[in-house]
Amino acid sequence: MGGRLEGRTALVTGAGSGIGRATALLLAQEGAHVVATDIDAGAAEETASGAGGSMTVLAHDVSDAGAWERAVAAAAGAGGGLSILVNNAGIAPKATIEQETLEGWRRVHEVCLDSVYLGCHAALPAMAAGGGGSIVNISSVAALRGVAVYAAYCSAKAGVHMVTKTIALHCGRRGYNIRANSVHPGPIDTPILDPDRERFGQRAIDARAEAIPLGRIGRPEEVAQCVAFLASDDSSFVNGTELVVDGGFCAK
Ligand code: NAD
Repeated sequence: MGGRLEGRTALVTGAGSGIGRATALLLAQEGAHVVATDIDAGAAEETASGAGGSMTVLAHDVSDAGAWERAVAAAAGAGGGLSILVNNAGIAPKATIEQETLEGWRRVHEVCLDSVYLGCHAALPAMAAGGGGSIVNISSVAALRGVAVYAAYCSAKAGVHMVTKTIALHCGRRGYNIRANSVHPGPIDTPILDPDRERFGQRAIDARAEAIPLGRIGRPEEVAQCVAFLASDDSSFVNGTELVVDGGFCAK
C-alpha cells in the first residue's frame, strides 16, 4: 500500500521514538508531508532522516500552548494545509495513588491529556478552514482497564478517550468534516517500557506478553498501521470511536 495520503499534511507529536516514529514514517510513506515534532528535536531529526524526504522537524513540548501555536502554523503553512493531527506524545511514569505526588500527577496530565486539548484547540480552525481531516489521539488500554501502578496515566488516558468523542460531536455540529478517533494500544515494544526493562529485565516484557491472547507484546508499526487507517479515507465513516490495538488483552 502507498499513496493514500498524497497531498495531505500530517502533524505527529512525539515523533522521535516508538509509536510516533513509526507513525511519522508510515504516513510519509503513504504520501503525506509530515511535520514531525518532539520535545527531543534530535530524535525527531533521526526519524526524518529515515524518511528520505518529505518531513519537517520541530522542537515542540506538547504541554506548552505557545509551542502548539507555532507547530500548527508551521503545519498549516506547509503544502496542502493541515489535515491530519496525531496526538501521540506521552509519558508513563509508574506510581500508585498513594505514591503519586501532586507534581507528578499534574505532569502526566499536562503531557498526556492537556496536550490533546491544546493540540485540538489550536489545530481545529486551520483544519476546518482547509476543508477538514482526521484527528487521531493516542490513548491506551489504560483508559479501559485500571492498573494500580499507573494512577495518573490511567486517569489521563481515560480523559483522552472521552474528550475525543466530544471533539467528534463538536466537529459534526459545526459541519467541519473532521473525524476524531482514539487509538488504545496494549503493551508495545518501545522505549516507554525501558524503566521496567532496566529494573526487571526480560521478565518485565514476558509478564506483559503472558497477559495477551496473541502471546506477545506489539510492535510500534502495528499501531502505526491503525493510525494510518484512521488518518486516511479508508476510515471515512469511522468517527468518535476507539480502536483497541492490544492483541486481545481487553477481550477478557
Ligand atoms: P516513547 O517513549 O517511545 O515515545 C514517546 C515520545 O514522546 C518520545 O519521543 C518523547 O521524547 C516524546 N515526548 C515526551 N514528552 C513530551 C512532551 N512534553 N512534548 C513532546 N514530546 C514529548 O513512547 P511510545 O510507547 O511510543 O508512546 C507513544 C504514545 O503511545 C504515548 O502517548 C503512550 O502513552 C502511548 N502508549 C504506549 C504504549 C506502549 O506500551 N508503548 C501503550 C499504550 C499507549
